[in-house]
Amino acid sequence: MGHVPHTGANVICPFPVRILLLGGTTEAAELAMMLQGRDDLTVISSLAGRVTAPHLPAGIVRIGGFGGVAGLEGYVKAEKIDVVVDATHPFATKISYNAELVCRSLSLRLIALQRPPWEMKEGDCWKIVSDMRAAALAADHEGNRVFLSIGRQELDVFCHCEKATFLVRAIDLPDNLPPHNDLILKRGPFVLEDEIEMLREHSINLVVSKNSGGEATYAKIEAARLLSIPVVMVARPQKNALTRVSSVAEVLRELGQIIKSRFDRLEV
Ligand code: NAP
Repeated sequence: MGHVPHTGANVICPFPVRILLLGGTTEAAELAMMLQGRDDLTVISSLAGRVTAPHLPAGIVRIGGFGGVAGLEGYVKAEKIDVVVDATHPFATKISYNAELVCRSLSLRLIALQRPPWEMKEGDCWKIVSDMRAAALAADHEGNRVFLSIGRQELDVFCHCEKATFLVRAIDLPDNLPPHNDLILKRGPFVLEDEIEMLREHSINLVVSKNSGGEATYAKIEAARLLSIPVVMVARPQKNALTRVSSVAEVLRELGQIIKSRFDRLEV
């Protein structure tokens, strides 16, 4: 794992680099943990506030939407943010779009972290679809027992599915559920053995998943492979970004360069 180089031994930075870290992901929590307690940078983690009792990242945290592009722009100005790190989930497109617009308009640095998508491996049986509606159409057939772990918001699409039975797993109680459902309220991470047992216990014969990438939710995909259960895999939406990197280590490297260039300027 990389690290952001310190500005120098015993050097107190008069103007810490102020970072807005858009989070809600494992990587964002990891970054917050690694960057806390530095005197050359200040990190404010931001969560959307979707779950009732979120795991709070280390350091300073704010929770809730900003109020669209104008709200985010106002926040960034008021907090004198120098750099925005967009470490949101690959399916969180609105906040990323807003962040890019604001960073462009204020000429701020944006580092967008996008973990690589999962790739099909030997033994996987995926039907790749372009969005959640297509996934619902593919899943809703008589006799299907479908495991759905896609987050609360997109469950609405499945509320019109009359034929299949859905095993829904969510952190908080969803507002809407498909007509035929079983519900599990549980927070990850989930391990392979438990995922296999759950799929077996509920006689699941189809899994619907977003192509989230990363390790935190991959166990269900591995379990499906091992049990020869097909997966309807929802492809990622397009996200724009000025500077896109694919790992926490790369974010740290970019931040290190930004801090160094600030210090070089101070020394002139
Ligand atoms: P989204 O569609 O891109 O965002 C919808 C609105 O939620 C944004 O316009 C913004 O409200 C607010 N928002 C989103 N992320 C925020 C953040 N980190 N801090 C402050 N406000 C934020 O996002 P989403 O798909 O609803 O996801 C919400 C959050 O959950 C994201 O932070 C994401 O990292 C996390 N998450 C999402 C998924 C997923 O499958 N979508 C999975 C795991 C975690 P305003 O316009 O009012 O600023």
